[in-house]
Amino acid sequence: MVLRYTAPKGTRDVLPSEAEIWQQLEGLFHSLAELYGYREIRTPIFERTELFLRGLGEVTDIVQKEMFTFTDRGGRSLTLRPELPAGTVRAFLEHNLAEEGPVCKFRYFGPAFRQERPQAGRYQQFTQYGVECFGSRDPASDAEVIDLAMAFLERAGLAAVELRLNSIGCPICRPAYRSRLLAYLTARVGELCPLCRERMEKNPLRILDCKSPSCRAVVAAAPLTVEHLCPACAEHFAAVKDYLTSLGRSFILAPHLVRGLDYYTNTVFEVVAPGLGAQDAVIGGGRYDGLIETCGGPPTPGVGFAGGLERLLLALAAAGAGPREKRVPLVFLAPLGAAPKELAVRLAHEMRTTGLRVDLDYRSRSLKAQLREADRQGARVVVILGEDELARGKAALKWLDGGGQEEIDLSVLVAYLREKTCSE
Ligand code: AMP
Repeated sequence: MVLRYTAPKGTRDVLPSEAEIWQQLEGLFHSLAELYGYREIRTPIFERTELFLRGLGEVTDIVQKEMFTFTDRGGRSLTLRPELPAGTVRAFLEHNLAEEGPVCKFRYFGPAFRQERPQAGRYQQFTQYGVECFGSRDPASDAEVIDLAMAFLERAGLAAVELRLNSIGCPICRPAYRSRLLAYLTARVGELCPLCRERMEKNPLRILDCKSPSCRAVVAAAPLTVEHLCPACAEHFAAVKDYLTSLGRSFILAPHLVRGLDYYTNTVFEVVAPGLGAQDAVIGGGRYDGLIETCGGPPTPGVGFAGGLERLLLALAAAGAGPREKRVPLVFLAPLGAAPKELAVRLAHEMRTTGLRVDLDYRSRSLKAQLREADRQGARVVVILGEDELARGKAALKWLDGGGQEEIDLSVLVAYLREKTCSE
C-alpha cells in the first residue's frame, strides 16, 4: 500500500491559488507599518525555552500546555516561538537597539507555533504579524499603534470590525483592585468553570474575560479595573480615548477585556470581526510597561499589537471582502515547429528579463491545444510563432480578452507587449 502523506494536524498549506492574497496582505502590512515608522525585525523561529517562560510569565495557558518544546543534541531546551514579541524583546536587548534612539519601533511578520486544540481560526502553526513601540509611555503611542492596526484591517478590506478598549491600571493601582476582585470571586468560586477555579490564585484578572456562561454570569457584577485606576492611569486612559476620537477611530469600552500578567499595564484592546465564531479576535494588543524588565532589560515602556493572518483571511472571506487581485497579465508563447520553439525559449527568457510574465507549453502540441492551455492559465495574449510568420520576421498576436488578432514585427515585439500589458 502506498502511504499518503497529509499535513500535520492544525497546519495548513497556502496553495498557489491563495498565495496572491497572502503576498498582498503581507506587502500591505509592511508598507503601512513602514509609513508609521515601524522597522522590520526578523528573529529565529525557535529560541531558548527560558525566554518564553520569563517573557510570557509562568502561569499563562500558553506556557502551561501549548509550547512545542524540544531538546537539542547539546541537551538545551529549545521552543518553537508561540508568539513573536518575546524574540523581538530578546533581540532588542541583545543588540542594544535602545542606543539607536529613545523610542524604537519594530514590526514583525512570521510563523508562530502553539499546541492548541485545532478549531476554526485556531491552528498549531499560524502567521503572526504585529508591531512594538519601545520607549514611549505617551498615550499618543497607544493611539498610534491602535490607529495602525485599524488602518491595516481597513486597507485589507475588513470594514465591519469592532475596536474594544479597556485599561487595566498599573502596579500601583492593580494590587488593591486585585484584592477586591479576589474577595468578590472567592464568595462565588463554586460557580466558576474548572479552569477559572485554577486561575483564582495566580491569574484572577483572566476570569473577567472567560467565555464560559457560568463565569460570565459571575463577572457581570464584578468590580471593574476602570473603576479602580489611580489618577495617573485614569489620565492616561482618558488621553488614549481622546487621541483615538481625534483620529476618527471609534471604539467600544470593554470593561471585562484584560491581560492576566503583571507586565501588562494601562491600555488593552482587541479588534473583533463578525462571522468568526468563538475565535473572533483578529488583532489583540496593549501596553506592557513591565515586559522588557521581565526579560532582563532596564525599565522600558512598551505598547504594541499582534494579529493572526489566517484569522484575518477567514474574516475577509466571511465578509466577502479582500484586496483586489492584481497579477501582471500573462503573455503565452505558442511556437509551432522546432525552429519556432527554439526562438520561443529565447524570447521567453528575454521577455522575463524585461518584467513581462511569460509562460509556454513545452510539449510541442497543436495550436488548438496551446490556445486551450493559454486560456486555462488566464493569459491576456498569445504570441503565435509559426514557421511562416518567422520567415517573414513576424509573430501573430491573439488577444484573448476580445482584442482580436494582429501581426507584429519580431524586432519590436517585446517593446510592444510591454507597452500593452505593463502600463496598467
Ligand atoms: P495572542 O498572542 O494570543 O494575543 O494572539 C495574537 C493574535 O494571533 C490573535 O488575536 C489571533 O488573531 C492570532 N492567534 C493566536 N493564536 C492563534 C492560533 N492558534 N491560530 C491562529 N491565530 C491565532
